[in-house]
Amino acid sequence: MDCIFCKIASGEIKSDIVYHDDRITAFRDINPQAPTHILIIPNEHVPGVGDMKPEQAGMMSELTRAAAAIAEQEGIGKSGFRLVVNSGPDANQTVDHLHMHLLGGRAMKWPPG
Ligand code: AMP
Repeated sequence: MDCIFCKIASGEIKSDIVYHDDRITAFRDINPQAPTHILIIPNEHVPGVGDMKPEQAGMMSELTRAAAAIAEQEGIGKSGFRLVVNSGPDANQTVDHLHMHLLGGRAMKWPPG
């Protein structure tokens, strides 16, 4: 499958990986929107949040738990961070492999643009 995030998870394409296990990979976004901007993905290919099968329902909590642990590791656990999952064109999803953005290290505005 020609999926850039699958290739990052498998190590075929190099990236700045901050966490990897048999289910999850986390790496620094190539175009960071905050001092800390990390993408957390399941190693298994799922195109987006609308594509999770019932047996994959635990995926989002795994990504969220990993994000919280990585936020601590990055020193933004206390200052705060934002988790974002874009889905579809209106949300600007540009890579069709489920991913969670972990953003932090600066004050954020609400509502998001
Ligand atoms: P989204 O717009 O939610 O689909 O987010 C996709 C993100 O992937 C964007 O923030 C991109 O900057 C990031 N991205 C694309 N290719 C790479 C790559 N090779 N390594 C790291 N981040 C990437």
